[in-house]
Amino acid sequence: MTTTLIDTLLDVRNLKMHFPIRRGLRKAVVGHVRAVDGVSFTIHRGETLGLVGESGCGKTTVGRCIVRAYQPTAGEIRYHEAGDLTDNVEKQRVHARHAATTDAASHGKLIDFAKLSQHDLRAYRREIQMIFQDPYSSLNPRMTVLDIVSEPLVIHTRKSPKQLKNEVADLLRTVGLRPEHMNRYPNAFSGGQRQRIGIARALALRPRLIVCDEPVSALDVSVQAQVVNLLQDLQAKFGLTYLFIAHDLSVVQHISSRVAVMYLGKIVEVAGSRELYSKPLHPYTEALLSAVPSTDPDMKRERIVLTGDVPNPANPPPGCAFHTRCPYAKPICQQETPAWRELDGGHGVACHFAEELSLRGVH
Ligand code: SF4
Repeated sequence: MTTTLIDTLLDVRNLKMHFPIRRGLRKAVVGHVRAVDGVSFTIHRGETLGLVGESGCGKTTVGRCIVRAYQPTAGEIRYHEAGDLTDNVEKQRVHARHAATTDAASHGKLIDFAKLSQHDLRAYRREIQMIFQDPYSSLNPRMTVLDIVSEPLVIHTRKSPKQLKNEVADLLRTVGLRPEHMNRYPNAFSGGQRQRIGIARALALRPRLIVCDEPVSALDVSVQAQVVNLLQDLQAKFGLTYLFIAHDLSVVQHISSRVAVMYLGKIVEVAGSRELYSKPLHPYTEALLSAVPSTDPDMKRERIVLTGDVPNPANPPPGCAFHTRCPYAKPICQQETPAWRELDGGHGVACHFAEELSLRGVH
């Protein structure tokens, strides 16, 4: 598929998020944790981009930078707007102030979230929402479902109490819950139902992009499939675009059109979902795929167990950051950082030996 500027919803370029390490009485900065260290990717309208990697690889930090829960250290988060801006005074004001960050080729409908102040971001808050990993801690136990789901509407719209109730009832029906439960508190619901409440809250403002931060990791396997199916149904119904963050490649397989694999703050491989699962080009992806359970009971797949721990992101190894655990590493891997390359069909990879290695996929 040829990607044009019009297809792109979000274009993340060289995103960095370095957290300072402070020590001593004066809290002097003695180093930085490079949680995200030069990440670039695009998300197309209506697609689901899976973002996978082990815990601590920086994928959640990428999601939080996109919704601007964090102010990135460097890089761009270019958001392409829909429609014209003539009927939105607030956005016209933001564009006038940030004209230097817009792109003439996109007819001025492009804005860099990384450069916006929290005040200017208000104009865009309703377009990008987040679903959180833990449905237990992400819902305030002192608020009713009505208060939780209507909170974004109270902040961003001027609806009457009756209108809010009607909207919340509609949202609860949309996510498979009963409207009569809106006066209950979160502790009356199961984990799957709580995640549906979180999804209803994310949908309240009719967003265009939803960052799903490990939305099924805390749920039982039987409930995971229901929530993934719900997210797919909502995507078809409302034309949503998802960034779907997960540590498990088996979860993203069914929902993602493309998958990006992260290791130690960098993306090491990006490809269409089918291509990545059948023909991985990076040894780290091969190792993650070896842990995906097979649907064929006769097929025996040998699991690749990576030795050693993930290196410290405050002091990443030189050369290829994966060389300390890579079963195919050669001397050059310790010295030279592999360049990012796009091979056939837009399959991107950062490995010196991507063309030479014959790696195992799952299909
Ligand atoms: Fe392994 Fe070397 Fe490729 Fe890195 S560049 S993934 S160490 S083979």
